[in-house]
Amino acid sequence: MTPNPTIMKFGGTSVEDASAFRNVAAVVKTAVPLRPVVVVSAIGGFTNALLTSVQKAIGGDARAATRSLDPDLKRHVAIARELLNPESCAAFELTVAVTRREIRQLHKIIALHPVTHPPLQDEIVAYGEQLSAQLLAAVLRESNLAARYVDARRCLRTDDNYGNAAPLPETAAATRTELLPVLESSKIPVLGGFIGSTDKGVTTTLGRGGSDYTAAIIGAALEAREIQIWTDVSGVLTADPRIVNKARTIPLLSYQEAAELAYFGAKVLHPKTIQPAIDCRIPVRVCNSRAAGDAGTLIVAESAATPQTVKAIAHKSGITTVQVTSARMLGAYGFLRALFEVFDRHRTAVDVVTTSEVSVSLSIDNAGALPELISDLEELGAVEVEEHRTIISIIGEGLRSTPGIAARIFSEISDINVSMISVGASSVNLTFMVDESRAPETIKRLHYICFEAPENPVRHAELAAGEVTA
Ligand code: ADP
Ligand code: ASP
Ligand code: MG
Repeated sequence: MTPNPTIMKFGGTSVEDASAFRNVAAVVKTAVPLRPVVVVSAIGGFTNALLTSVQKAIGGDARAATRSLDPDLKRHVAIARELLNPESCAAFELTVAVTRREIRQLHKIIALHPVTHPPLQDEIVAYGEQLSAQLLAAVLRESNLAARYVDARRCLRTDDNYGNAAPLPETAAATRTELLPVLESSKIPVLGGFIGSTDKGVTTTLGRGGSDYTAAIIGAALEAREIQIWTDVSGVLTADPRIVNKARTIPLLSYQEAAELAYFGAKVLHPKTIQPAIDCRIPVRVCNSRAAGDAGTLIVAESAATPQTVKAIAHKSGITTVQVTSARMLGAYGFLRALFEVFDRHRTAVDVVTTSEVSVSLSIDNAGALPELISDLEELGAVEVEEHRTIISIIGEGLRSTPGIAARIFSEISDINVSMISVGASSVNLTFMVDESRAPETIKRLHYICFEAPENPVRHAELAAGEVTA
């Protein structure tokens, strides 16, 4: 019997240079019996460069906009020259030249009509994934793998919310129509992540970091055996390794824990990745493309995950908190509805909410509409805004049942001003807000007591449950 396919998604850091492409080819080669479908991000740094080029074009200088992309376009060509045979290399170089010409035209249109930029920005940014996917398909063929480039925009059908498009239900059928014949002919489909198209065929993107989401959507459509996210660290770690150098791999997470971690800032997974996996009960595995032998993290349904006290500490910086205080709230109904309508009107998502009798505090990570929000909220009560805040989230199924953990955590950081403490509805996270300037030390100290200190409460809980022997 042929196995259900395995989705293998490689992030930008896994395809930043020729040796990274070589690693990817080696990883895919070992997975051939698992019927891989390969999803790839733009090469590291290219999406940022493409977005910056759009800003340059909006500023009126189309020539500078296109020229700013030349170093990254040359990186693509350098990788092709190192890894492809002359014929495939020439074909790819032609693709790069055509891409440059097309982007040049789009930059010119934006420079002349800057207000038209949202769909054109997506059109431009999408070249990042199209180029990397075409290059990776050619590199895989060079390794004698039967890879076939597929334009992901034919699979991912989305609404027209440019820059943050949502997939439409027809995506599942379109994905099967495009990919099943390729798989049935024993070929390996290779597609760009992050990109899609509307029903009118206009290019869209799914939001920054969205290639993980593409992998999950395709996985759900194909009833994949597993969705693998290949990145530059060995799985989901106990904290952001850029802050905590002793962060270590979490072997097993429940969907719920992984979703909370991603939502509260663990960049290793896009926050929307887990839902399609939950819907179809597909395991998600996070692995290191630079150390393919490392075990990584397996994310499965809650019932299969071992409950432990704390699994990880996530954080999200650049948060703004808004507090609305009004005596009208006391015993009244309709106040919260009016309050949330303001956020709705300004299309601003709220992350965390806490309330007291006469005030409501809310956190937002997109303060783009802040002045308008404040002026509408002032009709409801006195408004106080604090910027440069960080949400810190302690995550683990065991939080549900372990008394004393919150006391231990807050006594450790009693000298740090903490606000908006809340326990998520799912009870697998304990969340609070600190000033951005105190966030790194807060995270380091909490990581120490939760995962490093010999007398840490988590370790005791694990030992008591016989789960840790070392
Ligand atoms: P990719 O290009 O593969 O999509 P990303 O940069 O989006 O990679 O995500 C991987 C990065 O996420 C890691 O290099 C790490 O710095 C960061 N990160 C933040 N929090 C965590 C965490 N808890 N576990 C693992 N990585 C994390
Ligand atoms: N290339 C896109 C980005 O940088 C999508 C991704 O990497 O997942 O946001
Ligand atoms: Mg990513």
